[in-house]
Amino acid sequence: MRPLSLPRVPLRDLDLGELEKLAVSLGEPSYRARQLAGWLYANAAVDPADLSNLPKPFAEKLAGNHAVNSLSLVSKIISEHDRSIKYLLRTSDGHFLETVLILTRSRRTVCLSTQIGCKMGCRFCASGKEGLLRHLSCGEILDQIAWVQRDSGGPVTNLVYMGMGEPLDNYEAVIKSIRIANAPWAYEIGQRRITVSTVGVVPGIRRLAGEGLGQIKLCFSLHSPDQEIRSRLIPSNRKYSLDDIVKALRETREKFKRRITMEYILIRDLTDRDSDLKKLAAICRTLDAKVNLIPYNCVEDVEYRRPSPEKIAAFQNGLEREGVRTTVRYSAGQDISAACGQLRLAEERKSRPAK
Ligand code: SF4
Repeated sequence: MRPLSLPRVPLRDLDLGELEKLAVSLGEPSYRARQLAGWLYANAAVDPADLSNLPKPFAEKLAGNHAVNSLSLVSKIISEHDRSIKYLLRTSDGHFLETVLILTRSRRTVCLSTQIGCKMGCRFCASGKEGLLRHLSCGEILDQIAWVQRDSGGPVTNLVYMGMGEPLDNYEAVIKSIRIANAPWAYEIGQRRITVSTVGVVPGIRRLAGEGLGQIKLCFSLHSPDQEIRSRLIPSNRKYSLDDIVKALRETREKFKRRITMEYILIRDLTDRDSDLKKLAAICRTLDAKVNLIPYNCVEDVEYRRPSPEKIAAFQNGLEREGVRTTVRYSAGQDISAACGQLRLAEERKSRPAK
């Protein structure tokens, strides 16, 4: 009998070779692994009962130590504004995380969380408020896609690693999840449809460039071109300075076949000044990068404010005049409080015993 304290291993933690070994170790032919993968990925199984055409003894043995899905669905909110859906999910050890489905005419994009909390501590972000509680496993990352697929009734076409957590701080699990999501026996989501966002973990950027995943898109969350202000906004900038990050991106640029995107949060009187615009344009020219401007989304207890619409338009026009391709992006589902991590933070706080 399994000790009660041991959590079940998510089946989506395992790649095809590991699923084959598992099948053989449970007395089944190795081809059962592909059948199992079909249920896990194409059919988005979330429960042992979903593995209906596998031999019953095999399904029962699997259920002993493994979880068909390691997450449970707590709630979801649908945006009336743009139909995006925010899911609140719970891990088997009682933590909460958010996953968002963003719908456009041709894409069904899932924004994935990679950690519970985050140690980068960005001042504008609810997820970083209480530090890092733990990494998510590869299976827990991929299980988010299964829930979205299952609930929304359609395949996921694009992935963005931009939810709670710094993906390159949970490197191994994130890379394995990308490889599995990309595999023809699993979700088969093309590399060109996968985006990884980082605040600038220099060793992770260098490692990622050598993974042979050159078609994925890399987003760098720059947010301020000024070392001192950026360090205030993103405390991890004191560990990896802006100069070092830009150098790492420049050195590895040819390995990423696609243009790097700069994510830039516009905060009134802090990152929207003319001097910011000039420095930002210079960095973008060095890296041949384009810019996504994100007008600041207010977070509870944080004092920053969003610039006026006129200021946002002027900043965009100024960058374009400097020769930098610039898009203004508003967070999906603003009416469902989409500022990353706020729903989850409220739930984590509620679930703790009162002091
Ligand atoms: S913005 Fe991203 S990296 Fe920064 S604290 Fe939030 S989750 Fe972490």
